[in-house]
Amino acid sequence: VSLTISPIKDKTGKVIGVSKIARDITDRKVLEQKKGEFISFVSHELKTPLTSMRSYVQLARQRAEKIADSFLTNALSRAESQTQKMEKMINDFLNISRFDEGYMHLFPKRFDLSQLIQACVEDAALGSKHNIKPRIMPGLIIEGDPEMISLVVINLISNAKKYSKIDSDIMISCEQQLETVTVRVQDQGIGISKDNLEMLFEKFYRVQSEDTRKIGGFGIGLYLAANVVQLHGSHIAVESQPGVGSVFSFSLPLAH
Ligand code: ADP
Repeated sequence: VSLTISPIKDKTGKVIGVSKIARDITDRKVLEQKKGEFISFVSHELKTPLTSMRSYVQLARQRAEKIADSFLTNALSRAESQTQKMEKMINDFLNISRFDEGYMHLFPKRFDLSQLIQACVEDAALGSKHNIKPRIMPGLIIEGDPEMISLVVINLISNAKKYSKIDSDIMISCEQQLETVTVRVQDQGIGISKDNLEMLFEKFYRVQSEDTRKIGGFGIGLYLAANVVQLHGSHIAVESQPGVGSVFSFSLPLAH
């Protein structure tokens, strides 16, 4: 039941009572749950064929590179990058239902964060028209869930690409600072105004502008990324200036 309580005032503004409105929201809850289940079911069903498609396109692209066929290499790189985008969307949908249903668990282990970032950078560079500039210190080992951390990095890089012009620079760094390692994704894109920064990590939040409407999205990438980093005991920091660009970063402790 959802309860709304409001004061009843007389002409002078004096409170003379309260009104209580109780609404039965069982139907709405059931509907929301069904909607969540449907999204999760569809995402799950799409994931397997899409993963298989990506592997075949990747194999074909590698073969095209070997025989130095530049037309095929170019076409297949683009197809691969589009399937990557679809995979990201589906993974985000699956993860959002995991969060909403409260069964998001981390499977932490020691892993090489530098290698993981390098792999994300290579994927992001495929068929990309941005200047992707990595600065990755090798051998930085952390403890965490590599699949989830990779979701964070993929989301940050994908946003950097989405919200900036082709041919602009995207700097991705992974560097040690004393006992921690900091990952930064910096773009020269449209930036975010101060009053939008506060809401940025809320579920379904998107900055309302002509640019963002044209670019499209669901407003769940940063919500998921922030939650994953929080589950690792840290947070995502953002610095941004409209028309200049944005920097998203997070730090995690190095494993001993
Ligand atoms: P989506 O990109 O699907 O809308 P996100 O949760 O990833 O959802 O991002 C939320 C919003 O934050 C975006 O709609 C956009 O307005 C803003 N945003 C995120 N990353 C950037 C960025 N690098 N540059 C400018 N705006 C960004």
